Amino acid sequence: MSLAVSVITMRRMANETDVNKAVRQHAEMEQFFTGGFTVKGQAQSQPVQRADAAATAEKQAQLDKIAEEVRACRKCGLGSLRTNAVPGEGNPDARIVFVGEGPGADEDAQGKPFVGRAGQLLDKIIKAMGLQRSDVYICNILKCRPPDNRDPKPDEIFSCLPFLQQQIEIIEPEIIVALGAHAAKTLLETTKPIGQLRGQFQQYYPGLGKKPIKLMPTYHTAYLLRNYSKDNRRRVWEDMKKVLAELGLPIPERAG
Ligand code: URA
Repeated sequence: MSLAVSVITMRRMANETDVNKAVRQHAEMEQFFTGGFTVKGQAQSQPVQRADAAATAEKQAQLDKIAEEVRACRKCGLGSLRTNAVPGEGNPDARIVFVGEGPGADEDAQGKPFVGRAGQLLDKIIKAMGLQRSDVYICNILKCRPPDNRDPKPDEIFSCLPFLQQQIEIIEPEIIVALGAHAAKTLLETTKPIGQLRGQFQQYYPGLGKKPIKLMPTYHTAYLLRNYSKDNRRRVWEDMKKVLAELGLPIPERAG
């Protein structure tokens, strides 16, 4: 075999290994977060609605107004690069708000948060918690996609953060789940690594005179996909169990 042919063969084998790894990860993901969670002695689905219909409609109207402002925003360079802004979506009366880093390619194409692979894993985690996507609110620190999914820049976070702060102020969740280092560090104004922050409730301060909100930092689902170890999956699930316990919601147990 010539050198060129053997290099091509090796590359092909490496690609196949990547594909095999992705397929295996997917199967494991299916099993771990969807593998027969049951709530012993209790109904699986819990109502999350806290307010009356008129109050919820008013909150939705306020969130819609922010979404309009986000879609018109040109406060940083990302505004001219986006296909769609991704303001966030979900229940205006949610008890839990999930906050990610920023839209990726799929989110930019659809204008909705967490709809790509990382989003599918988030959906599975939410379902494993006994909830539905429509029970919670899902949004990001950045509302527009950074090119090539690079990390958010400080000036971009500075420009965009007021939108998220207003969303949180309107929804008044009982718990914020910060997905990944960027969300956790930004909302907690800390430089501590996510590995140190995760797993323990922290406080998010919405502003002067307002009650702090409990914030659970955990690994971002994109990180989890890249580092799909049993330990990391368990860590995220342990974090989510703490969220459920704090809200007094039943904690599904993995069958077997
Ligand atoms: N990653 C994020 O942080 N947010 C999304 O909406 C999608 C992927």
